[in-house]
Amino acid sequence: MALIEFKDVHKWFGDFHVIKGVNETVERGEVLVICGPSGSGKSTLIRCVNRLEDIGKGEIIFEGRDIARRDVDLNKLRSEIGIVFQQFNLYPHLSVLKNVTLAPIKVKKQPAQEAEKLGLELLDRVGIRNQAHKYPVELSGGQQQRVAIARALAMRPTVMLFDEPTSALDPEMINEVLNVMKDLAREGMTMLCVTHEMGFAREVADRVIFMDEGSVVEEGTPEHFFTNPQHERTKAFLREIL
Ligand code: ADP
Ligand code: MG
Repeated sequence: MALIEFKDVHKWFGDFHVIKGVNETVERGEVLVICGPSGSGKSTLIRCVNRLEDIGKGEIIFEGRDIARRDVDLNKLRSEIGIVFQQFNLYPHLSVLKNVTLAPIKVKKQPAQEAEKLGLELLDRVGIRNQAHKYPVELSGGQQQRVAIARALAMRPTVMLFDEPTSALDPEMINEVLNVMKDLAREGMTMLCVTHEMGFAREVADRVIFMDEGSVVEEGTPEHFFTNPQHERTKAFLREIL
């Protein structure tokens, strides 16, 4: 069974039809890269997966359950499906370590000591254990984004969603974040990544999908996508960003 299935997913913002019938399956351990022009619905689509947005029609099946149902436990869903945003969205008044331990303690009722132990391990894994007691404002953008990744991982998610996680970073900090994401992919994490980092896509994506105006217009392996795109929109997009 696929881990996530999008079945004829539509969404409207008022009269605006933003997602127009997406059908996709994501297997356990798969890394899916989603690219496409600004405004094509990439963020909206992945935000539907952890119910930051509600879909208007269709189904999103996660581990056999329809996550669009009204009775879904959102705290549980969001602990299973972590998300990392373009703008790190850390809690400015909490230390780095507290940013990471807050949800495990509050939502998962993990004992503080246990949460801190895991939190420090995760900060170590993303290379910033020595910043644990600083505040977000004292960190570089790349470091803050790595905290955001550690914070999502602290809930022990099954899936990680990334929404242009490197787009707000200075160029010299992009790789430190991509490297953490590459490690995660190699460890077998299922990942849906909205990104225009085509080097990352080539290296770690199992599949790349290209969205335009709310539809998936092209999909395939990175090999297919980069060397043999079929659609004019994809070709034009690749010409612009490569
Ligand atoms: P992308 O991530 O591909 O740039 P988005 O999913 O953010 O695209 O947005 C797709 C379209 O939906 C855009 O035209 C955007 O302006 C519109 N949109 C996004 N969020 C909202 C919202 N909350 N209300 C109304 N329109 C929105
Ligand atoms: Mg977006």
